[in-house]
Amino acid sequence: MPRIVFMNDTLVPENEARVSVFDHGLLYGDGVFEGLRSYSGRVFRLDAHIDRLWASARSICLEIPLSQQTVAKAVVDTLAANALSDGYVRLVVTRGAGSLGLDPNRTKDPQVIVIADTISLYPREYYEKGLRIVTAATQRTHSAALSPRIKSLNYLNNIMAKLEGLQAGCVEALMLNHKGEVAECTGDNIFVVRAGTLLTPPPDAGILEGITRGAVMELAHAAGIDCRESTLTRHDLYTGEECFLTGTAAEVIPVVEIDGRMIGGGTPGAITARLTADFHKLVRQ
Ligand code: PMP
Repeated sequence: MPRIVFMNDTLVPENEARVSVFDHGLLYGDGVFEGLRSYSGRVFRLDAHIDRLWASARSICLEIPLSQQTVAKAVVDTLAANALSDGYVRLVVTRGAGSLGLDPNRTKDPQVIVIADTISLYPREYYEKGLRIVTAATQRTHSAALSPRIKSLNYLNNIMAKLEGLQAGCVEALMLNHKGEVAECTGDNIFVVRAGTLLTPPPDAGILEGITRGAVMELAHAAGIDCRESTLTRHDLYTGEECFLTGTAAEVIPVVEIDGRMIGGGTPGAITARLTADFHKLVRQ
């Protein structure tokens, strides 16, 4: 069965969903996107994703040609058109077709695209036993070059780091910022437990402010777990009691080894387990 895709104002079969070869999203990665997830027919934190999409677009001077309400409805309608109640949604806005030069003022018709698919999960085993990750030599993009707070179509920085992880036999890789501080992983935020306190790098470490990250911080507060943003070094991770990653696709996933150092006892810890359980409850609420 062909998937149904939302393109600008209508739902079309995937083979009719086309973008121009002159689209600056294709030519230059000039655009923004979101990854969302629905649980039991409800999109988790839809408003937060829409807000972040608009913030990303604002930051790159891209005017989204539809209202926030219309785009939010398109997300819900696309999931329904594909009969997906537990699904993954990719929401993309490109700069639109232009000339072969960089000038964004010479583009027109930004393309708003919503793709819904089944969610492809990490194997169950990783959630039970935890991930091994390595630090990539590729640094996270300097925020003075392109703010990591913008979820742009330029993911080559993350892809280069992901390649390094994969070459080392890991499905995720840790990225540091230009100061050598911990930033995030290639597609996930990172948390560490130290002396019972949950720590995660602040936005100015050069991270995408993950929506799952925000939800987990709220859950930690609700559970009485001390949780703070803090500048972190790799040493802080290596000597932590627990470590986990968060992201829309990954949800909450434990990390048990970083650069060959075992974290905690080499098995997922109690705070990770608690927050994972609370997160699963929250998304189905
Ligand atoms: N960091 C990066 C670089 C990401 O691409 C993502 C999204 N996959 C995240 C963190 C996690 O963000 P969210 O929880 O909003 O999915």
